[in-house]
Amino acid sequence: MKARYSIVSLIRNALNYHEGWPEAWRSPEPKAEYDVIIVGGGGHGLATAYYLAKEHGITNVAVIERGWIGGGNTGRNTTIVRSNYLWDESAGLYEHALKLWEGLSQDLNYNVMFSQRGVMNLAHSQHDLRELQRRIYANYLNGVDSEFLTPEQVKEFCPIIDLRGNGRYPVLGASLQRRGGTARHDAVAWGYARGADALGVDIIQECPVNGFVIDKGRITGVETAKGTIKAKKVGVVVAGHCSVMADMAGFRLPVESRPLQALVSEPVKPIIDCVVMSNAVHAYVSQSDKGELVIGAGVDRYNGYGQRGSLPVTEETLGAICELFPMFRRMRMLRTWGGIVDTCPDASPIISKTPVEGLFFNCGWGTGGFKATPGSGHVFAHTIAKNEPHPLAAPFRLDRFVTGFLIDEHGAAAVAH
Ligand SMILES: Cc1cc2nc3c(=O)[nH]c(=O)nc-3n(C[C@H](O)[C@H](O)[C@H](O)COP(=O)(O)OP(=O)(O)OC[C@H]3O[C@@H](n4cnc5c(N)ncnc54)[C@H](O)[C@@H]3O)c2cc1C
Repeated sequence: MKARYSIVSLIRNALNYHEGWPEAWRSPEPKAEYDVIIVGGGGHGLATAYYLAKEHGITNVAVIERGWIGGGNTGRNTTIVRSNYLWDESAGLYEHALKLWEGLSQDLNYNVMFSQRGVMNLAHSQHDLRELQRRIYANYLNGVDSEFLTPEQVKEFCPIIDLRGNGRYPVLGASLQRRGGTARHDAVAWGYARGADALGVDIIQECPVNGFVIDKGRITGVETAKGTIKAKKVGVVVAGHCSVMADMAGFRLPVESRPLQALVSEPVKPIIDCVVMSNAVHAYVSQSDKGELVIGAGVDRYNGYGQRGSLPVTEETLGAICELFPMFRRMRMLRTWGGIVDTCPDASPIISKTPVEGLFFNCGWGTGGFKATPGSGHVFAHTIAKNEPHPLAAPFRLDRFVTGFLIDEHGAAAVAH
């Protein structure tokens, strides 16, 4: 068992100049064989390993990460968390995740800095208004908190917004999910890693998986930079690289991988205490605990694996932010980066068995999977442990692209992560 983090351990370690903290997780060499290998040490992969051990008692598990844990999209996203999706299937999955978020710091004994500051989606046209209202009513029916705000209420909720949108995109109303907000992305990866490690999971970093060992249609292991490791089951959770891995296993995924960008400004005093998003002008903003404005952009218009993103997207985004918040015109940007997002044609994820027995894929979260991290890990662990989909994951099977039972969430996903 790991030492618990508490006020007592904080004081004890302060007396030793914080030099006595134990390691948060081990760095073991891989064993020859595991019951389950999870490929990909992002939030979803680490959460899967944690719930496999915690909920299903499967502890002979390794998470194999080609770089460092949380170095993929988990550490690159803008951390928006919400559950106000349109369709019943999505509402079920994302609301399951949101409920787990609400107790996650306590569950992991790790402060993931979950802040339910409210997420507001703006409407700039009659079409936007109708789409938002339809979604709000769908949310009511699914027991997901959601409300409509008039322009006056928008201004009250976020006083620094310019409702005229510089005359180009006036704000006509908004939807608000008060239980939505943000969380600290690194802490989510580290908290799950620490929790999983404490339950016996091996976390192996700097070890790319280069292939699968498949015998008569059944997975028996993975080829890695540290040699072949045997496994009874393998779960692949590699976000933007999922189609590359599917190719290694001999099947195709209906996924496109594209760079998605974000930026942060220089840190300033608290100025905006909610999340504001706009699909129409393609931008959203919140403020981090360090004071930086966290600004999200749209995806590049072409497929690629460069973790940078193209300049026109940045320009477009900053133009939109300055229209909504003219006072940000004088802010200086500190950093910009990109991550490779894996988007499905219906903007919903894949949580599924595959044509290879014992091989499972969890991918296709596109621009909005951070919010789902706890729920995704929870239902994927069930799917792997029981060899059958968790009821909340069942609609997200790979074969929906054959049966035609798509879950079209373009309206709820869009830029609005
Ligand atoms: C700029 C940006 C902003 C975003 N904003 C939001 C947001 O506000 N809200 C939201 O909900 N979502 C957001 N997202 C989406 C979100 O970040 C992702 O959906 C989510 O983090 C995916 O988590 P993951 O664990 O599946 O993937 P990742 O964190 O990418 O983890 C996958 C891991 O697999 C590893 N890997 C890949 N190939 C191999 C291999 N061959 N062998 C071993 N390991 C491998 C990678 O190194 C990586 O660490 C955003 C994404 C980006 C890029």
